[in-house]
Amino acid sequence: MEKLKEKILSEGKVISDSILKVDSFLNHQVDVNLMKEIGEEFGKYFNSKNITKVVTIESSGISPATMTALYLNVPLVFLKKQKPNTLNNDILQTTVKSFTKGETYELTVSKKYLQKDDNILLIDDFLANGEAASGAIRLIEALGSNVSGIGIVIEKSFQPGRKLLESRGYDIYSLARIKQLSDGKIYFL
Ligand code: 5GP
Repeated sequence: MEKLKEKILSEGKVISDSILKVDSFLNHQVDVNLMKEIGEEFGKYFNSKNITKVVTIESSGISPATMTALYLNVPLVFLKKQKPNTLNNDILQTTVKSFTKGETYELTVSKKYLQKDDNILLIDDFLANGEAASGAIRLIEALGSNVSGIGIVIEKSFQPGRKLLESRGYDIYSLARIKQLSDGKIYFL
């Protein structure tokens, strides 16, 4: 998506050879017009897949996922990173290793929001090692829903996430694919 790539080039900050900061339009402040176009792009690509729900991970996935769900006219469910106050049978949890923080966290979903045979479009802001997406997929599939597609705003293609998910047969559509981050510069595939 050319507009997204231009935005990344003009506002993205290369923190290291593996981390890109895009706080000005995606991870802190949100460019809502760009998110609207991102939602349309994902929506059009996955339109034929009979998506019944969009699922994302809080917090940075929520803005692109909301716009995608709006385009597809389906509910949005975001998986929570905060531990619930009470552990009970109504929730499902899985442990995920955070790429940016290096720590693990619990990803939680309430069972009532994902049903057997739901066709899920999973949306996330970044794809690096594929840990977050894999955790989300574990929860979705454990509840009997199907992962019908994965939409990623920014894929760092030099990290193994795409290969891992593709090897499991998932259809991944990334709007910007980064080949390399080096010397403060961003190179797309
Ligand atoms: P993965 O689980 O694929 O290793 O990493 C994906 C998650 O880590 C995303 O949900 C995102 O929050 C975060 N992440 C990974 N790489 C980056 C990055 O370069 N910049 C930012 N801002 N977040 C990242």
